[in-house]
Amino acid sequence: MEELNSLEEIFEAVENCEKCKLHEFRDKCVFAEGKNNANIMLVGLSPGRQENLSGRLFVGPSGDFLNELLQLAGLDRNELYITNIIKCHAPTYAIGPKEISACSIYLDKQIDIVNPKVIIALGSVAGRYILEKYNIANQKVSDIHGQVFSVSMKDLFSPDRTLKIIPMFHPAAALRSEGLLELVKKDWQNLGEKL
Ligand code: SF4
Repeated sequence: MEELNSLEEIFEAVENCEKCKLHEFRDKCVFAEGKNNANIMLVGLSPGRQENLSGRLFVGPSGDFLNELLQLAGLDRNELYITNIIKCHAPTYAIGPKEISACSIYLDKQIDIVNPKVIIALGSVAGRYILEKYNIANQKVSDIHGQVFSVSMKDLFSPDRTLKIIPMFHPAAALRSEGLLELVKKDWQNLGEKL
C-alpha cells in the first residue's frame, strides 16, 4: 500500500479503492466528517443507502437520532471526527472479515493522524475491531455499552497519554429495536458525565 501521510491522501486512496468487492456497491465513497484534530472520534460500521447517495455520514433517520444522542451527551457534532470502518456502502451480509481487514487499514491511518483522546465505537463490529486493536479482550457490546476502557499510549513524545475507548450501541440498531431506545439514550446522557 502506498504511503498515506495525510487525511487528504487517505481520502483520495479511498475514493479510488478497489481493494475489496464492496467497491461494486459504491456510488459515493463516504470517508469522514468533522474536525481533523478532534479529541473525540466516532467510529461506525459502514455507510447506509442515504450516505452512499450523498457521500455524507449519518444522514437520514440514524443521523437524526445520532444528533439527538450527541445533544444528550452535550457534544457538538462539528467538534468530533466521525468515520466508519468500511468506507463503501454494502448490504450488511456482504461485510465479512476480508472486507474489514482490507478497509480497516484506512481507519488505522485516520486514527494515527487525528490522534483522538477518546474513541467511541458504535455497534458490535466497530467495538470488536477497536477493542482488539488496543489488545482489550473482546466482549459483547450488550455487556459493555457505555463503559470506559483506558489504554496507556505512553511514548517518547507523550509520556502520560491515555486513550479512552467507549463501546456504544449503534444508533441504527436502537432505531430497529424499541427496547433499546431508552437504554441508548441513557448511555449517551451518562456519557456526557464521563467525558
Ligand atoms: S470497502 Fe474499503 S477496502 Fe473495500 S473497496 Fe471500499 S474503500 Fe476499498
